[in-house]
Amino acid sequence: NVAVVLYTSDLRVHDHSPLRAALSSCDQVVPLFVRDRAIEESGFSAPNRRAFLADCLAGLDCALRERGGRLVIRSGDAVGEVVALVRETDADEVHMAAGVSGYAHAREEALRTALEAEGRRLYVHDMVVTAVAPGALRPAASDHFAVFTPYLRRWSELPPRTVTAAPRVIRVPESPRSEPLPERSAVTGVSPGLARGGEREGRRLLGAWLREGVDRYHEVHDDLAGDATSRLSPHLHFGTLSAAEAVHRARAAGGAGAEAFVRQLCWRDFHYQVLAARPESATRDYRTRRDSWRTGPGAREEIEAWKEGRTGYPVVDAAMRQLRHEGWMHNRGRLLAASFLAKTLYVDWRIGARHFLDLLVDGDLANNQMNWQWVAGTGTDTRPGRVLNPVRQGLRYDPEGAYVHRWVPELAGLPAPRVHEPWRLPEAERARYDYPEPLVELADGLARFRQGRGIE
Ligand code: FAD
Repeated sequence: NVAVVLYTSDLRVHDHSPLRAALSSCDQVVPLFVRDRAIEESGFSAPNRRAFLADCLAGLDCALRERGGRLVIRSGDAVGEVVALVRETDADEVHMAAGVSGYAHAREEALRTALEAEGRRLYVHDMVVTAVAPGALRPAASDHFAVFTPYLRRWSELPPRTVTAAPRVIRVPESPRSEPLPERSAVTGVSPGLARGGEREGRRLLGAWLREGVDRYHEVHDDLAGDATSRLSPHLHFGTLSAAEAVHRARAAGGAGAEAFVRQLCWRDFHYQVLAARPESATRDYRTRRDSWRTGPGAREEIEAWKEGRTGYPVVDAAMRQLRHEGWMHNRGRLLAASFLAKTLYVDWRIGARHFLDLLVDGDLANNQMNWQWVAGTGTDTRPGRVLNPVRQGLRYDPEGAYVHRWVPELAGLPAPRVHEPWRLPEAERARYDYPEPLVELADGLARFRQGRGIE
């Protein structure tokens, strides 16, 4: 008998319970990836993620072929394509990883109904995309945790789940039709410094990170120029790396750095469980603050300047240019660039989140939207009124100015600390740098945020 394994955000063969389960219950397995038209047409599939995805699919096909299998690619309506393949191969069952977004849930339900109508079964496996399944942990009076620290406590106490090895052999039925693998080189508009995707690369990065990087993570993770974080986020997003395996191996490595790293992985699960319980938070305020966000031509110009890294605040501009160049941004950069848009410019967080999703290779509905809401003070931050000061942030997290020098070359000749406040230079010296004046004074930004938010 035959099983179909429907791949979504879990593009790997290691620690993959849907593949394992399919192999243990059926003689033959058809691994399938559907280029879902609804996603491709939603605008959610941005060039950087499409390019990275192409690497991941090529890698997955390669890993499956090494084991005797291969990846079938189809495009169109996900449910329709699965049902068609089930009929073609006479498969009895379909296995897939549980999704968290509202769309993923709706797709699962539609697939379950369609398969039942065919007399076939759908098995949805949790803890494939996250280390701990959304909904597995609940506080006494709610369906999800709205505060991180109690979630972290409960999450840390859970006995770790077993991490499974990749299967050795995969038997596939007589060649079901497959479309060609998408090619990275065919995607246009990709950031020049975009990382490489694929399970092999994800595993290599994790190994190198645990050997060489994680030990000092707790001390250096906020150092913008040091770039000393794992850079595993795109691999976790596409599932070329199992979050549970990353937690498991980091815990085994031990030490304060590994502990801090595992805590960040818990943040990932935390945001997933919020979005799973409140899928509408992808677009609606998790906590309504009755904001009167700035709109109109003035705001539009400022938004454009923010997107292009021309705000006149060097550390914000450096972060925004890193995003455009690499399709990735340092977490500290994300925090201060998002705070600048949502609080200093007082522009609706959805506009910033959309721009991030257009560029981020790890762009992810749960982590992006819920982090944006956290920064904007409409989400789960317990101090929603805090505003990050970009000058102080620059002085603290880029004390040598090296991050600004790297991404804002116009200011490369200006040493720290002055590089974080170029507007303070004497006029003659200021004129040497072809760099914009601040879009808004910080005190004015703060005043309009407080007024708009109704903070006394
Ligand atoms: P590391 O510091 O090495 O952390 C390890 C892993 O922990 C990360 O790969 C990530 O999976 C997880 N993690 C770390 N910080 C967070 C966090 N704050 N929330 C959730 N998970 C976290 N992360 C995304 O994966 N996708 C996004 O779309 C995304 N958008 C963001 C938007 C904003 C405004 C902010 C403030 C943060 C966003 N993050 C997002 C979280 C975080 O910035 C990135 O996960 C991190 O910078 C990725 O780099 P890294 O892999 O080197 O992280």
